[in-house]
Amino acid sequence: MKERLQYSEIADRIRSAEMVLIGIGSEFSPALPELKLDNAALPYEKSEYYSSLGDGDAVICAYKRLRELVGAKPYFVVTLNTDNLVYRGGFERDLVVAPCGSMEKMQCEEHIVEAASVREKILEEIRKLPAEKQKDRESTALILEKHAVCPICGKPLRFHIKSEEGYLESGYLDQWQKYNRWLSCTLNWKLCVLELGVGFEYPQVIRWPFEKITYFNQKSELIRVHSRLPQTASELGERGISVECSPVEFCLSV
Ligand SMILES: [Zn+2]
Repeated sequence: MKERLQYSEIADRIRSAEMVLIGIGSEFSPALPELKLDNAALPYEKSEYYSSLGDGDAVICAYKRLRELVGAKPYFVVTLNTDNLVYRGGFERDLVVAPCGSMEKMQCEEHIVEAASVREKILEEIRKLPAEKQKDRESTALILEKHAVCPICGKPLRFHIKSEEGYLESGYLDQWQKYNRWLSCTLNWKLCVLELGVGFEYPQVIRWPFEKITYFNQKSELIRVHSRLPQTASELGERGISVECSPVEFCLSV
């Protein structure tokens, strides 16, 4: 395991790769401000917060910097985050898979729809309430019952994220297949496997497979960036590079 490479050396390694596989985890998601409404309305505030982040926000700047670094090389991104911010950095939707879903989508039992208009209506109604009622479960529940409904079938909507009951896996399966096809084309290419802020939440999605991919492709390197858990498997030897750093800070520094 190689450690303590200079940022410039790491940037050179990314630049000199032929293909780049990027994995993104929760450390790359912005910390939420203190939210104000009742618990049931928190996902709406969260979704609104992500979509209203300005271009100058550190996370957005870090994604843009990362996109520049990847340049014209073939890439694919797997993200565990549901904040959709990776697209703000210029990554193409076609080359990103988000198996944990998205806060910009909502779902009933069978349909996946855009969240924006439903979210705006609900937050508008809640914010019209007198201040003391905005944190009141009953008042919020009435508004959700009325407005969080599927525009196609009229059944209740919830956010399309893995932590919600009945999460529709179908939302990402096409992209997952595309990702697997892309992966099968990386063998024997000089692949940079860049893992940013992925801890042990869903290790079977990024952390473990990324080690396996690196292990089997002798020309690849795994660069694992995490503020607390940057260690790489010893089997990777010199091809496992551990960077103990916040992934946002890392991207802004390379
Ligand atoms: Zn529906």
